[in-house]
Amino acid sequence: MRIGVLGAGQLGRMLALAGYPLAKTFVFYDMSGSPSAGLGEVIIDREGQYQDDFLSRVDRVTYEFEHLPVHVAEKLAKEKPVYPCPRALQVCQNRELEKTLFGQLGIPTPEWKIADSAESLKAAAEELGCPVVAKSNTEGYDGKGQAVLRSPDDAEQAWTDIGHPRLIVEKFVDFKREVSIIAVRAEDGDLAFYPMAENSHHEGILRYSIAPAPGLQAFIQEDAERYIRALLNELDYVGVLTLELFETEDGLVANEMAPRVHNSGHWTIEGAMTSQFENHIRAVSGHHLGSVEARGLSCMINIIGEHGDTERILELPYAHLHLYNKGERPGRKLGHVNVLADSYEELVWRVRNCAQFLPGSPEFKSSLTPRG
Ligand code: AMP
Repeated sequence: MRIGVLGAGQLGRMLALAGYPLAKTFVFYDMSGSPSAGLGEVIIDREGQYQDDFLSRVDRVTYEFEHLPVHVAEKLAKEKPVYPCPRALQVCQNRELEKTLFGQLGIPTPEWKIADSAESLKAAAEELGCPVVAKSNTEGYDGKGQAVLRSPDDAEQAWTDIGHPRLIVEKFVDFKREVSIIAVRAEDGDLAFYPMAENSHHEGILRYSIAPAPGLQAFIQEDAERYIRALLNELDYVGVLTLELFETEDGLVANEMAPRVHNSGHWTIEGAMTSQFENHIRAVSGHHLGSVEARGLSCMINIIGEHGDTERILELPYAHLHLYNKGERPGRKLGHVNVLADSYEELVWRVRNCAQFLPGSPEFKSSLTPRG
């Protein structure tokens, strides 16, 4: 079976790496950018004129990023199965639609309001009570196009800084930690849920994911499964879906979803019986899903900006290095390391040992380590 992937970055690369053992072949389609997938033909189509050519070479279509114009996905879906469905893409591209859907499905979110002027931003901050987080309603990702307002008086400045005509304004969540759940739905509606991950960010970029999330109470995993199940079924979704959440004293609060394999699921490559990439390929190809059970304890360390001493990492018996074949640039995701262990204590020690060879890594901080 020939799989067409919209987008040609590292996620596409890892999808292909997981798909080749199942005898899938890959064609990547991108409307811009510099492809790094490197594991199949890449069609760069800046003018949108080679879509028929792309479609003629593939049996099914999926995507590895959510910033693709919805009308392109819809057009393709008229000719070939596109999984997940374009509606999932549409919801993810618009925070207002996304939060509205969460609300309809009973998924808790921060209290939120829409602002379309500096004045209405100020009014929203007053009504919600500061601090609040203002985010561009569309085209935002990884903390870009966002500002925290400590007081309604910050509204004017925040409005200018973000420079977007429509904002979503959210009450600031006082969370214990950030977590995510990754789930997969097959063509026949079968569902599987990975153990949740605990995620640490630095400068708006994911740095570490630990899975299964340490000290997670069973009801938290169950709540997260209920929320993501509701989304998967509502969207008649096929493939991997990620839901990013805040864990608070009062349970989970949803932040956003990603209609694709996710950075917080990279640990599954060695850390789960079936990786998120293989399960996504299985789902979009119409196969049975694989086991999502963890093989032990994992921590994924992102390699950001510079590669560091990868030769030293290759010497570590418990570390698995994944490089994306990309050039160094500040803030750029160049690869990741999966560290495995049998106890959290051993995991912390191994992660620290590994991270010393990655100069771009912030100090390893998690719920496992005392916070300074
Ligand atoms: P986002 O682009 O929505 O994923 O937000 C990026 C990061 O900003 C998140 O990972 C959180 O660390 C933080 N953040 C976003 N929304 C909120 C919120 N309502 N309360 C507290 N922190 C937030």
